[in-house]
Amino acid sequence: MLKTLIKITGQSFISPLYHTVSDDTPAHIKHLFKVRSIKQFEDDLDFLLKNYKPVSIYETYDHINKYGNPPNNSFMLTFDDGLREFKDFAFPIIKRKGIPVSIFINPSFVDNKQLFFRFKASILTEKLITNKRNFKCLDDFIINKKTTPERFLKSVTYKNKSVLDNIAKCIGIDFDEYLTKNRPYLTLNELSELKNNEVYIGAHSIDHPLFNMLNNEEQTFQLKQSVDFVKQKFNSRIKGFSFPFTDYGLNKDFFNKIFNEEMVDITFGTAGIKKEQFKYHLQRIPVENYNKGIKQILIHQYLYYILKIPFFKNTVKR
Ligand SMILES: [Zn+2]
Repeated sequence: MLKTLIKITGQSFISPLYHTVSDDTPAHIKHLFKVRSIKQFEDDLDFLLKNYKPVSIYETYDHINKYGNPPNNSFMLTFDDGLREFKDFAFPIIKRKGIPVSIFINPSFVDNKQLFFRFKASILTEKLITNKRNFKCLDDFIINKKTTPERFLKSVTYKNKSVLDNIAKCIGIDFDEYLTKNRPYLTLNELSELKNNEVYIGAHSIDHPLFNMLNNEEQTFQLKQSVDFVKQKFNSRIKGFSFPFTDYGLNKDFFNKIFNEEMVDITFGTAGIKKEQFKYHLQRIPVENYNKGIKQILIHQYLYYILKIPFFKNTVKR
C-alpha cells in the first residue's frame, strides 16, 4: 500500500518531526500534544527504516544543490525545541540504529534560561485541573466569560504571553524553580556532546514566536539571530532553520530575502507532505499531531495528497 502511494504521488522524500520521546509526559508538554513512548518511537523508526533510507541534513542539502530536489526514497529525521528527553531517550535508539538526526534549538531556552510560553500554559493547565480553587486567578484575565480556563490558556499568544506569568504568580507557580527542578531543555554542553556524536544542530528562532504574527523586521531578526547563535556555537557547514509552529502566511519576498542574502541555507516547515516553490524549503510531518503509528500517518498523508491533486493544492502558494 505505502509503496504504491509513494509511486502515485512521487513524494518519496519525507521528513518526520518529533519534539520528545518519553514514557512519562512532563507537565509542560502534557496539554500540548501526544508524546510517543520509547516503544512507539522505536516502532516508528523500524517502519521508516524498512521503507526509506535514512539521510542527514547534509546529504539532503547536497542533493538539492546538485539535482534540485531532496534524495529519493529517503527520510530525514528531525527534532524541534532542544528538549532533554531527546538525549535521554530518543538519541540512544537513534544512534543504535545508525540514523542521522537533526535538532533545532531556541537560544533563549538553551541551558534552561527561559521557558517557552506554550509550555507555561501547559504547566498552568495541569495545576488548574488538579486544584480547581486556582480558577479565581484567571478571573481578571478572561474577558470572554463563556470560555473555559483550559481554552483560555491555550489561546494565549506570543504577544500577550506575560499573562501567563501573572497567572502563575497568583497560583503560586515559580517558572524559574520549574526550570531548575525539571530541566526541560538541553544545556550547551550537552548539545556540544551531541554534536560530537554527529547530531546536526540547527536553529528554531530565538524564543519560539508564531512567525506570521511578527512584522518583517521581527521575522528576519528571529531567524538571523538564532541561526547566527547556532553557527557561532557549533559552526556546522550548513545553516539550517526550522520554523516554530508553522511557516503558514510567510510570503515569497521573505523566502527570497533569507536565501538570497545567505542568512540560512535550508529551512523546514510543518505542513506535512507538500511541495514547495523554494527548493531549499522543505515540509515535515509533525508526527505527534496524530495519535497513530507512523504507518497510518504516512498513508493518511499520501491519501490526503492524492485527494488534493485535482485542485492543485499540493504546492504551497506564497
Ligand atoms: Zn518548536
